[in-house]
Order: sequence, then structure tokens, then C-alpha cells
Amino acid sequence: MTVERLIVVGASLAGLRAAEAARGAGYGGAIALIGEEPHLPYGRPPLSKRILEAGPLPESTRLRAYETLTEDLNVELVLGAAATGIDTNRKTVTVGERSIDYSAAVIATGAAARRIPGPAETLSGVHVLRTHDDAHAVRAALDANARTVVIGGGFIGSEVACAARKRGLPVTVVEARTAPLTRSVGPDLGAALTRIHRAHGTQVSCGAEVAAIEGERGTVARVCLTDGTVLGADLVVVGIGTVPATDWLAGSGVGVDDGVVCDEFLATGAEGVYAAGDVANWHNSLFGRRMRVEHWSSAAEQGARAALNAIDPATAQPYSTVPYFWSDWYEHRIQFVGVPGHQGYEVVSGALDSDHFVVLYRDGDLLGAALTLNGQRHIMKYRNLINRRVSFDEACAYARARAASK
Ligand SMILES: Cc1cc2nc3c(=O)[nH]c(=O)nc-3n(C[C@H](O)[C@H](O)[C@H](O)COP(=O)(O)OP(=O)(O)OC[C@H]3O[C@@H](n4cnc5c(N)ncnc54)[C@H](O)[C@@H]3O)c2cc1C
Repeated sequence: MTVERLIVVGASLAGLRAAEAARGAGYGGAIALIGEEPHLPYGRPPLSKRILEAGPLPESTRLRAYETLTEDLNVELVLGAAATGIDTNRKTVTVGERSIDYSAAVIATGAAARRIPGPAETLSGVHVLRTHDDAHAVRAALDANARTVVIGGGFIGSEVACAARKRGLPVTVVEARTAPLTRSVGPDLGAALTRIHRAHGTQVSCGAEVAAIEGERGTVARVCLTDGTVLGADLVVVGIGTVPATDWLAGSGVGVDDGVVCDEFLATGAEGVYAAGDVANWHNSLFGRRMRVEHWSSAAEQGARAALNAIDPATAQPYSTVPYFWSDWYEHRIQFVGVPGHQGYEVVSGALDSDHFVVLYRDGDLLGAALTLNGQRHIMKYRNLINRRVSFDEACAYARARAASK
């Protein structure tokens, strides 16, 4: 198969890496990078971190300059325009009035922030945090000293809370579960991380449900909880997860089930069509199952792998990984490797009520995941052990030997 044109739908991290990997491999055909947002590809992690900090804005979160994309990489940029459909028989992608032919395509449309439907959505001061524009709106509210309520105690919501507290602003995190992050790190570790918030003066209301977000004259004024608590608010950030951006694939024949369904090669089953990044629900053979992860490192790696497989299917290689993400809270760094869903854990370094710990999670007899607080020296060692599928007992013994050798 000669790949005359590679179309990449989604001009963010995974999409950019797809274009770069194709050119890096010597691909000389046309590349079109289609992005719904008007911006050049930019990094999202700073949106809930540096961008929200007080003081001067970081110069740019752009991942590549316009000239690098259009001249060095010779990519046709189609920005500010969403793809609305893909015809996998005729091999075309529709963007506005245009129908663009492809020989190979990488779907990298990521995910959109989940919203709370209803009138609150239209109130000024109520935001999600997914895009450059969202982050700048949240930053403007923080600059105006907003009393902040964060709905959802996940990692992004927590980072917003950190940013507000670092500015000395009052902030409450409203979390429906008994502790934030229980699905990612389990209830005990969720509680241990919540302690960090509380130590910095962030209020965390657990087991709390939002009854209403109310406004006055079109601007948010308060968040009412089902237990009768009323939280005055000038800024409400809704951080209740994401939905993979797959609506545009409806009826296309590309399989969708919590993301774009693909095999270990990131192939969708439609000829020449691959998926990568937050939108990809792929078979991670290391764990013997399908998963969709929303982490920077896997989006970057999958983008590259999907493009290489798409331009030269004869040499396609599977993609598997031990998922990894980090999150920055106040002066602390949290890192997690592996997959959630744990059957017990052991603290192998530090203590849960201190500023440093390393926790290993059991997955049956195997090491399934590791979580560290300020454990930058440790985390990648455990990622390697998970990658080798070592037993939980072996990993704990390794940790003890490390501790003893100090
Ligand atoms: C605020 C924030 C903080 C984060 N912090 C961290 C962190 O600290 N550590 C970490 O590991 N990860 C973090 N992440 C996650 C990481 O940024 C994502 O995993 C990564 O951005 C995924 O890249 P992607 O290219 O797959 O998707 P996305 O970055 O979501 O990009 C998809 C792009 O496709 C576009 N698109 C959607 N539909 C269409 C369409 N129909 N046509 C054309 N374009 C379309 C979207 O507009 C978007 O620009 C964070 C994410 C956010 C939002």
C-alpha cells in the first residue's frame, strides 16, 4: 500500500507526535493535521499548573512553532475546524465543506471535559478545564480573587484548588465519594492525599453532592449541597472527568466503546485507520486487556506508534506500556505507574501521614501499580518492575533491600 496522504484528526499532543514520527521515519507523502481548536498544538499539563499561578504568564505552552510544523515538517494545518465524519469506504474525512482523501488516518481527538447539564452551564464563572481558553478564563477569575469551589476531587480539580490556595484564596473541593481519587489510588491513599489539601487550608467536603449551582444576574453566586451547605462562589470549576471525543465517528463503522476501539497495533479495524492518545481504547498486551488512559506519556508514545503503523503496516509493531502520570500539588509531586484496581497495598518507604511515601499495589500475585509522594527517585524503578510483571512479594522484597542498603 502506498500512503499518499496521512490525515491526523486532532491537533494536540498525540496528533503532533503522529506527524513528527511519520516525518522522522522518512515519510514523504502529504500530511494534514486537523484540529477543532484554532490554536497550534499546545501542552495541557500547564493549564492546571503554571497558567493558573499568580504573576506573569508563561511565555507559551505551544508545543511547536508554526514554521516548524508547516515548513520543517511540511504539514498542512487545518485548524479551527472540526472533522465531522469519516467515510472508511471512500477513505475521506469531512471538515466543513471539504472532503479530504486519505490513504491512512490517525484519530487523535482526545477527550472533552464532562459538564453538569442544566442552567448552571450558562452562568458566567462556571468553567471546565480542558482547553487553553478554559485555563485563561479560570486564571482571570483567580486574578480577580475569586472564592473558588471545585466540583470533583480528581487530579485536575485538585490542581486548580492548589493554584487558588497558593494565591491565598478560599477554596472548597466538593467530592461525592468518601475521599477524592478513590478510583485511581484507593480510599486510604485518597484520604492520605486529601490530608495535603487540608494542611494547606483547602476545604475538602467528602460524600457531598451538589444540589444546585445558583447565580445572580447571570453570574455564579453559590453552590448548594444536598446536605444543606451553601458555599459562596465567584468561580466554580467542574472537574468530573471526561468523555472521549468520538461523536463525529457516529455511523462511520469505526468501533466506539469508551473511546475508539483498537487492537494492540492501535488499528481500528477500518483499513488504514488507527487511533492514539486519550481517545484510544486499545489492547494493552502487557496487562492482557483493553484500556483507555489519559496521560501525557502514553498519548505522546501512541501518537508516534499509530503513525508509524499507519504509514507502513507491513512493519507495524504493537504498543504496550505501563501507564504513568504525575500531578503537582502545592510543593509536592505525586506520581503513579500501573493500572488502578488494586487488591491491597503496602507502604514500602516513608509514611502515609508524612511528606514522602512509596506505596505498592497488589494485582493478584503481581505488582500492579505504584504511587509515590515526592518519590521521584523511586517511581521509574517500580515502573520497570511492573513492566517485567514481577510478583508483588518480589517487589516488596526489592523495596526492603533498597531500604536496607541505605
Ligand atoms: C488541565 C490538564 C492537566 C493535565 N495534566 C496532566 C499531568 O500533569 N500529567 C499527565 O500525565 N497528564 C496530564 N494531562 C493529560 C494529558 O494532557 C492528556 O493525556 C493529553 O493531552 C492527551 O493528548 P491527546 O492528543 O490524546 O488529546 P487532547 O490533548 O485532548 O487533544 C485532542 C484534540 O483533538 C481536538 N478534536 C476533538 N474532536 C475533534 C474533531 N472532531 N475534529 C478535529 N479536532 C478535534 C480537540 O479540540 C483537541 O485539541 C492533563 C490534561 C489536562 C486537560
